[in-house]
Amino acid sequence: MSRKESLNKLRVTLVRRRDALRRALDGDLSLLQELHGQKTGDPLDAAADTIQDELNSQLVENESRELGAMEDAIARFEAGTYGNCESCGKPIPITRLRAVPYATDCIDCRRREEDGQDGGNVVAWNRVFDVSEVDPV
Ligand SMILES: [Zn+2]
Repeated sequence: MSRKESLNKLRVTLVRRRDALRRALDGDLSLLQELHGQKTGDPLDAAADTIQDELNSQLVENESRELGAMEDAIARFEAGTYGNCESCGKPIPITRLRAVPYATDCIDCRRREEDGQDGGNVVAWNRVFDVSEVDPV
């Protein structure tokens, strides 16, 4: 498969995933609103509600962040810059794009950046990606 074909496949994957995320986010938000409308006054239930709210808002936060990264990646497709490293301009290997479809830099640049950051503030995009695989109950 040529790089162009691979990139086109990734684009389809990204668009599908973005749409799925949008729906999931809508679902999570309506779930949250439901929870807020159903307070029973029972202290135990209230505690459970709080935990559930926190879990939901964490999910929503992760998914919102991922959704933003997807929108950016799709915009780069439209601009014709998708798949190129934003730091050095070289093509990002397809294997990396398959693992992280919204990657904006190649492994070399990513490593260089992580080395300069004390490893403190690195966003684990892979993990964000994995978290959203969990179906909301
Ligand atoms: Zn690079």
